[in-house]
Amino acid sequence: MSSEPDTKIIDLIQASAKEALTEGGAGFQSLEFFPPRTDTGVMNLMDRLGRMKATKPLFVDFTWGAGGSTADLTLDLTTRTKKEHGLVPNMHLTCTNMPVDKIDHALAQCKEHGIRNIVALRGDPPTGSDTWEAAEGGFTCALDLVKYIRKNHGDYFGISVAGYPEGHPNRIKEVPGGVESLSEAEKGRCKISQDAEGKEVVTVCSDADFEIEMNYIKEKVDAGADFIITQMFFDPAVYASYIKACRDRGIEVPVVPGLMCINAYGGFKKMTGFCLTRVPPELMAKMEEMKEDEKAVKAFGVDYGEKMCNALLAAGAPGLHFYTLNLEKVTVGILDRLNLLADYKMAEREEDTAQMIGMIKSSKKSPEESGPENGAGVTPAAPSSLVQTRDEERVLTPA
Ligand SMILES: Cc1cc2nc3c(=O)[nH]c(=O)nc-3n(C[C@H](O)[C@H](O)[C@H](O)COP(=O)(O)OP(=O)(O)OC[C@H]3O[C@@H](n4cnc5c(N)ncnc54)[C@H](O)[C@@H]3O)c2cc1C
Repeated sequence: MSSEPDTKIIDLIQASAKEALTEGGAGFQSLEFFPPRTDTGVMNLMDRLGRMKATKPLFVDFTWGAGGSTADLTLDLTTRTKKEHGLVPNMHLTCTNMPVDKIDHALAQCKEHGIRNIVALRGDPPTGSDTWEAAEGGFTCALDLVKYIRKNHGDYFGISVAGYPEGHPNRIKEVPGGVESLSEAEKGRCKISQDAEGKEVVTVCSDADFEIEMNYIKEKVDAGADFIITQMFFDPAVYASYIKACRDRGIEVPVVPGLMCINAYGGFKKMTGFCLTRVPPELMAKMEEMKEDEKAVKAFGVDYGEKMCNALLAAGAPGLHFYTLNLEKVTVGILDRLNLLADYKMAEREEDTAQMIGMIKSSKKSPEESGPENGAGVTPAAPSSLVQTRDEERVLTPA
């Protein structure tokens, strides 16, 4: 495959939207992976990509490890995905621990290999650190990075940015007055959970803070971002409200929903706990009911994923972006239900889907090392925001 410059993803999204209008297309799907820790993991991921490309993802994201820890590998996976699989990669790039010269280097590497699509992010603090600090002479937020890329590279790069339909976790706070004290909009974004003593705890990004968030995302778009990919959420109504909030403020770019599949009770609880994600009461009740039944949770994950994807497409989502956690079967199971599997091989699909719906035994190995996917029972550990669910050290530790 060539190192000819890639097509920009925004052009692909627009073409997909046109096809949906004229030919009744169902919207696109895209996949996100993180850089594995071992050589075996990299090999398995490349094999997985080789299979999953048959589902015809519009683009494939690779995350930038917390604190820039995977810079070389992220670049390598990105270029290999283009060269070896002919897919369009979307490379994440964060400002954490990245002085300007390192940003320049990463962008130069991308150009050399014809990589034209970047997710511009601030990033989370590096592992072991609670607060985010700019590198010396570096950028302070994603907005700085978007401006920098546009200023120095014009229109060469397609840029996407992160959006937070429930507000960024840093702006989600406990509400002492409980649900009754919230506005209608806040009620739609809030999370209701129980503390260790069973006392109800309500957390929310307040209307005032949400307004700051919306002004800020508008700045990122006005500075040159082509589209938004959202933080995970489990309530489709949250996405519909976010789209409205964007459009009301003149943000017209596509907003692609980021979907985290439900694989296991423990992982779901940890992830939604640390990310402060809203969980609709009926979803939580169902998860509690099934918590001892690993197989039932996985099967439910496919059911819920299917319903959620249908609701999102009905709400106007241009496509569906799957946080695969480097796993294959749940994503494939949902795509199958949505008739979006394209040319994914039937025999393989049936076997995988059957396994996914309950036959998978949890493995002591991480999925990346176990090759053929048998790690869907592996649960994410203690993420404090979405990126940390993407950090294999924390995510793929068997619970
Ligand atoms: C789709 C997606 C992909 C991600 N991929 C990665 C990844 O590959 N690697 C990784 O390390 N992390 C990743 N993350 C996590 C992300 O790095 C963290 O959520 C981080 O805390 C914020 O990054 P950001 O780009 O959203 O930051 P920013 O857009 O800079 O802002 C984050 C928040 O800070 C506040 N803020 C910052 N500047 C301003 C301002 N000028 N005015 C007002 N408010 C401001 C706002 O509350 C804003 O929502 C991803 C997140 C998402 C949603």
